[in-house]
Amino acid sequence: MKIGIIGGGASGMMAAISAKRKNPQYEVHIFERNEILGRKINATGNGRCNFTNLCFDKNFYFGEERDRILSILEAFSPNDTLDFFNDLGVLYHLKDTYAYPRSEQAATVVDAFTQELNHLGVVLHCNAAVTAVDRTKQGYCLRTEQQNFFFDKIIIASGSKANPKLSGYGDGYLFGKKLGLQIVPVLPALVQLVVANNPLKTAAKTRCYARVTSVIDQQEGDSHKGELQITDYGISGILVFQISRHISKALWEKKRASVLLDFMPEYTKEEVLRLLTKYFYHSRTTSCENVMAGFFHRKVGKVLLKQSGIDGNKKNTTISKKDLEVLLKNIKEMKLTITDTKGFDSAQICQGGISLKEINPQTMESYQYPGLYITGEVLDADGICGGYNLQWAWATGNLAGRNV
Ligand SMILES: Cc1cc2nc3c(=O)[nH]c(=O)nc-3n(C[C@H](O)[C@H](O)[C@H](O)COP(=O)(O)OP(=O)(O)OC[C@H]3O[C@@H](n4cnc5c(N)ncnc54)[C@H](O)[C@@H]3O)c2cc1C
Repeated sequence: MKIGIIGGGASGMMAAISAKRKNPQYEVHIFERNEILGRKINATGNGRCNFTNLCFDKNFYFGEERDRILSILEAFSPNDTLDFFNDLGVLYHLKDTYAYPRSEQAATVVDAFTQELNHLGVVLHCNAAVTAVDRTKQGYCLRTEQQNFFFDKIIIASGSKANPKLSGYGDGYLFGKKLGLQIVPVLPALVQLVVANNPLKTAAKTRCYARVTSVIDQQEGDSHKGELQITDYGISGILVFQISRHISKALWEKKRASVLLDFMPEYTKEEVLRLLTKYFYHSRTTSCENVMAGFFHRKVGKVLLKQSGIDGNKKNTTISKKDLEVLLKNIKEMKLTITDTKGFDSAQICQGGISLKEINPQTMESYQYPGLYITGEVLDADGICGGYNLQWAWATGNLAGRNV
């Protein structure tokens, strides 16, 4: 039996190892467009690879066929991932429930995969972009610029179009479309947000602790706390990434999207008002700006004063109660209109993709094309930040490899 895998990324390498371990007599080939395997893995988790997460909640994953996503994930748990890596000699350590290689180097993961693929005798074709997938009488033909290769079964593991510089080419959608598979619109997810007339611009390059809540057509949605990164175009940081897939979808659906920022999420509104009252009417401080510097990064404090129409140089004790109310509103509920995301170039992942209606969730095999399997991010499934997308890649790759 000859198996051809398109893509030497997370799910493709996992599929190859799983197939070969179960059926050592199989001839398994991986075709990778880059000169190296696992380029995207090398960039994950800021180069440290947050490869899974022990905390699971079904609401952490999205896609039109959520039940199928969950049943696929059940077949290969985060503990299975830890065991898999331990078996390859990759020790892990946990930060809270987030798992990383103990070396804190994503390259450890790619190296371990490469060694195991070589050990198992998987045939690696690097710098080999598959340009077309054709059905033949016996199986499938994978075309590359140099040569056509014939296989009994194939696995499409070519990833999404997120981050083209890191191998987000999106070829899998084209293969799927050509084969007539249903594709759910592909949009950026886990991505930075662009703010209209960004009022935070003068505080660009600062970070602060905040809560961000999505608001779509006046409806408040997901809310996350954490480190907010302020940029010249808008907002970034993991808390922003976590709500970005909903905003991205809403903008694509031509809905109105905004976010509410709470710059002091650890305090209630009443507590913040009490603190403002205490320190603004404190005679030792010289100006409004200096009071705010005790609460926030000085640049953020200045923005909050400006947005509230308060002169930062004004003597703080002369500020009116009404001004404090406006300031309080900006600190606890600053509303920012979102006009766009930073797009596929900056996105960590994509939402949408080949519909899971096309796939048998027990095997990852296409219903329309027996012998064709699909894995990873090219499918319509996306997870929140925190190791959940790699877990999807491992789970789908393992399932396809075991069943191919
Ligand atoms: C900056 C960044 C950080 C991230 N951090 C994390 C993290 O910490 N934790 C987490 O869980 N997820 C993270 N992700 C997401 C995670 O990397 C992906 O979800 C995962 O790699 C998807 O696996 P995959 O196998 O579907 O695709 P990929 O890993 O992208 O692999 C697809 C492979 O197919 C190859 N390919 C494409 N087209 C062809 C073709 N025509 N012929 C041959 N080869 C082809 C590509 O070159 C690529 O190597 C991050 C993503 C990015 C961009």
